[in-house]
Amino acid sequence: MKSKFEEFYYEDDKNYPVDVYWNLYDKNQAEAIRKYEGHIFCPLCRLAPLTVAKGNERRYFKVVESDMDKHDIDCSYRRKKAGKRETEKFYKDLDTTDIRNRLVSCMNRMLKKLNSSSSVGKVRTIERGKKALGFFDIETEGKEIKYLPHKNIYAKDLETDIDIQKIYYGKCSLYLIQYVPEGEEVKAYYLKVLNQETKKQICDIAISPFVYNYMKEQLDMLPDNKMTAKDFYICFSGVLEKSRYSYKCKLRDSRLLVLEKID
Ligand SMILES: [Zn+2]
Repeated sequence: MKSKFEEFYYEDDKNYPVDVYWNLYDKNQAEAIRKYEGHIFCPLCRLAPLTVAKGNERRYFKVVESDMDKHDIDCSYRRKKAGKRETEKFYKDLDTTDIRNRLVSCMNRMLKKLNSSSSVGKVRTIERGKKALGFFDIETEGKEIKYLPHKNIYAKDLETDIDIQKIYYGKCSLYLIQYVPEGEEVKAYYLKVLNQETKKQICDIAISPFVYNYMKEQLDMLPDNKMTAKDFYICFSGVLEKSRYSYKCKLRDSRLLVLEKID
């Protein structure tokens, strides 16, 4: 099946969730089309142009068949998404150093401006090259290269295939609380992931004291209440579950979470 994109790369050098387009489109169709169409690209390689499908029930962004060749030669979206069984196998035989590198690359590529730290133009051509891509790719048992399921944490359809482990990423406000039953030691930590703008909780990542110890230094930087929640780039891999007010997820290993403070 063809990839449907839930985010797009825009000419100002940033990725945006597709809602940014639809919100404008619902207010002013002509303006949305003028501003974005012809100026939006694959969020990973930033080369293949995206086409907007505007059916009443079926709104989505895609790369049309005739544009498939415009993806970077190493872009994961040239390939198929790994299925549930293939994904489970990958995480079962996990090389934790490898996954950590993947998460860091995902965070840098999908969430940050390319040219944030150096001169415009020059860096872009280099960064667009090979070594920046491929961090979602895995080789299946059938020796086929497929890409790991992943999703922007702001995506509208978090419930689709929710039982499949994914790499989630976003720019969010974070804080950390402890669960301490009376007279006992800390039983668990909960990393609260909030929408950066509305401060509404998106998900809750449960961290055992054992896992916490491996990343104490990083987690201790986090504020301990919602009022003082701070902005971070976050990227983690896990299985989300729907909970009463938001989503929840258990962190299996300290290397499945990376954070970077936004100054
Ligand atoms: Zn691409």
